[in-house]
Amino acid sequence: MESVFIIVVILVAFFFVIQKRYLRQDELKDSAYKKKGALLNSQETAFYNALISAVGQHGVVLAKVNLANVLTPLATEKKQWFIANNRIAKSYFDFVVCDPRTLEVRVAIELDNGKELNKGKVDRQKLLIHVCKSAGIPLIGASIKHSYQVSRLRRLLAAHIDLIESDKEVRFCKRCGSPMTVKIASQGEHKGRRFFTCSRQPQCTYTENYNVVFDEAE
Ligand SMILES: [Zn+2]
Repeated sequence: MESVFIIVVILVAFFFVIQKRYLRQDELKDSAYKKKGALLNSQETAFYNALISAVGQHGVVLAKVNLANVLTPLATEKKQWFIANNRIAKSYFDFVVCDPRTLEVRVAIELDNGKELNKGKVDRQKLLIHVCKSAGIPLIGASIKHSYQVSRLRRLLAAHIDLIESDKEVRFCKRCGSPMTVKIASQGEHKGRRFFTCSRQPQCTYTENYNVVFDEAE
């Protein structure tokens, strides 16, 4: 009698396990999917092509990289960590350029689609600017209207990635008319970044942002 009881218990348990399993599969079957299509739209693809051409062999370009894959909150307290992580978990960088050997992110690029500023767009830009500044990742804003200009992109990147050489450029000092030379900042907020300085230093102390021509054009 006892053994019959044990067999019944085993059978019932077996039944429940099987049922649970099939139920779970049914739940998955309820949600069907279809492909969204290309990962990038045509404007983004045009920019991507210009970007890989500007970067060449000196970097790896990745698109739509989740912020949480690149950044982690500094907070050590669990709750604060989750709050900070939730803040970035749903956002992604449009493009990042990574070191080709280590795949460490060197520069993040935000592509402005030229559409009107709305609250969502402003919030996104605020978040990107904050996280990049906080984590020390240079953030380049690129407008869709310049997307095809490979030399311009290369110059923007050259200020941050030392392997990328932009086409040689001659500039003359705005103040005294002497030729200017390119130097790399050794300290301060812009450490490692290139800038133009007057060749008559220290008599003339004029310096210029590497990308000033483009900043003015924006
Ligand atoms: Zn000068």
